[in-house]
Formats: sequence, structure tokens, C-alpha cells
Amino acid sequence: MPNTFNFSCQCRTLKGTVELPDMRSLTRLVCYCEDCQAYARHLKPSEPVLGPHGGTDFVQVSPAHFHIKRGMEKLGNLRLSESGLYRWHATCCNTPLCNTPPNPSMPFVGLITNNLVCNQSTLANKVGPVRLGVCAGSQYPISADWPVARNFGFKALTRTLLNIGRWRIAGDHTRSTLIDAETGKPVIEPYTLNETERKELYTTA
Ligand SMILES: [Zn+2]
Ligand SMILES: [Zn+2]
Repeated sequence: MPNTFNFSCQCRTLKGTVELPDMRSLTRLVCYCEDCQAYARHLKPSEPVLGPHGGTDFVQVSPAHFHIKRGMEKLGNLRLSESGLYRWHATCCNTPLCNTPPNPSMPFVGLITNNLVCNQSTLANKVGPVRLGVCAGSQYPISADWPVARNFGFKALTRTLLNIGRWRIAGDHTRSTLIDAETGKPVIEPYTLNETERKELYTTA
């Protein structure tokens, strides 16, 4: 039986579900990279998305298992740069939801766990605990209950790529709520930050 979780934006206008059928193979990690922090600074959600040391808690799931059920009209898509990830969020309350890669043949959703409607212990029991912290950059080393790495790391990358490969073979890239199967384009045209906006974000302490 798959684990099905509800998720929603902070004001609960945008809602959906995510199935985590093979949770033991999924990767849950905290990303400390500059981009995730800049993104949170740009959106300014009322409930902070960043945890201690500016980390964002993600679980990597297949797009075939990620469904938006309500509030699709409030879905926004933002890129920090021309080559950046699609950063999906709810425009009603500026909640960051998930990231997807720009390459449509890569079935992958990095879902921010804060949006799952469950408490931390349920999350740890059903999804699994955080396995590691990645991209710690200048803030490395960070004290946490799990290993924190300066980069993404070979192990985490291998695990992620294996999952993406598995989902690709299953055809999950054609079953995404976020990417049009015919065109391979995102269902919402992304807004890309301009140089001035980027400068402001990355120079903010
Ligand atoms: Zn909302
Ligand atoms: Zn990041």
C-alpha cells in the first residue's frame, strides 16, 4: 500500500497529494545552498521555510506521484537564472512547494517537506529521517543529527540518479502535473529573475 500524504500551501488554497510507494529508496535531505536560501528570501512566505542554518528539507519523489488537486490557478513557476531549476510555489501566499529540473526527460520533483500535512514524527516514520545535509557552502560545517557535506556528494547523487533512471524507464516523465507530456514544457511559463533582482537577493545577508 502506498503512503499517500496531503500537502498544501500555507493558506490552504493550493492542495494536493503525493504518494510515496517505495519510501525506503527515497532520499530525504536538507539543502543549504545559496539558491534555495535566495529563493526563500525572494518569496518571503509568512511561515519561514528555512530551518536552522538556512536549510530546506526536501524529499525527492517521482512526478507521477505528485498531484495538485486544488488551486492549480495559484501555481507559480520561478527561475533564479536562465538555466536554473523550475521553482514551483503557491502565488496566493508565496509558499515554496517543490523544484523540478529544466530537462523534461528527467522525472524528478524535490518536494519541500514543510508542506506535507503531518507532524515530524509521522514524516520520519513514513518517509524516513533526513539522511544528510548538502551544499553547505560557506556555512560548512553545520552541526546536525546527520552528516552535512559541502557538495551534493557521490552517494546522494548516485541514489538520486538511480531513482530518476527508474522513474524514466517507468515513463513517469509523461505523467507530471507540472510538465506537459506533449511539449516537455512547464505547464506555467516560468518567471526568471532579472539581474537587478538577483543582485539584491544574493547580496542580502
Ligand atoms: Zn496559499
Ligand atoms: Zn538548494
